[in-house]
Amino acid sequence: MSALLEAHGVSKAFAGVRAVDDASLVVQDGSITALIGPNGAGKSTLFNCISGFLRPDEGRIELAGRRIDRRPPHRVVAAGLGRTFQTARALTRMTVLDNVRLAAPAHPGERLRDLVARRSAVRRREHEVTEQANDLLRLVRLDTHADALSGTLSGGQRKLLDLARILMASPRLILLDEPMAGVNPALREELLAHVLELRGSRGITFLVVEHDLGFVMQASDRVVVMTEGRILMDGTPDEVRNDERVIDAYLGTHA
Ligand code: ADP
Ligand code: MG
Repeated sequence: MSALLEAHGVSKAFAGVRAVDDASLVVQDGSITALIGPNGAGKSTLFNCISGFLRPDEGRIELAGRRIDRRPPHRVVAAGLGRTFQTARALTRMTVLDNVRLAAPAHPGERLRDLVARRSAVRRREHEVTEQANDLLRLVRLDTHADALSGTLSGGQRKLLDLARILMASPRLILLDEPMAGVNPALREELLAHVLELRGSRGITFLVVEHDLGFVMQASDRVVVMTEGRILMDGTPDEVRNDERVIDAYLGTHA
């Protein structure tokens, strides 16, 4: 296995408080890596640095060997990274299908000079985008809701919608921030199955912040533990589960 994502010495402070403090981590290509730690540990801030929403004060971040920490979010997406937010971001007054269509990346066909060629290229592209969006809605089993307004979906269904939106850009790495939060048990199973399936069939790599330790232990190859802005350790789920420091810092308080 080779490294797909590497963060080296990343720090980010807010008003003098180091939310992320000299954090380094490696996510192997094709792995499911969990990032765990108590509230306020800096997990979301690290995600924001990786995905270009925040610029780290120090450190460097590479995706497939290319530096991404100085790029705006859309250029990080173009480099192959997709992410969800702790709260789903779909536009609630737009249909489920349109939300997915809207997540399609721009297409070179849209820059053609010739008006007629451009019209037909745009129409062809729109058709492709609609097909792809419908395929992805079938994949996450939201196809029966394609014409519903996104605001009518449950919390768990909105996470599935977010996943479909991310997949429109064909990412190599997906960051999920607490995907199981606010999701009912049936949909949790389904979300877990989708993650495993997407890794298996499309080779997509996942970095997942999750408090549900069932998910973490069941799905992940590696677990990275963060406390107070720092990386405490990383290891296999078993190594992490049995580590005294982790039990003290995190697991003990959740038992
Ligand atoms: P986690 O996701 O692990 O719960 P966060 O990354 O959200 O942790 O937060 C880490 C620390 O940074 C917390 O102390 C939080 O209050 C602070 N923090 C996060 N985002 C901001 C922000 N935009 N402005 C100021 N402080 C922030
Ligand atoms: Mg968070």
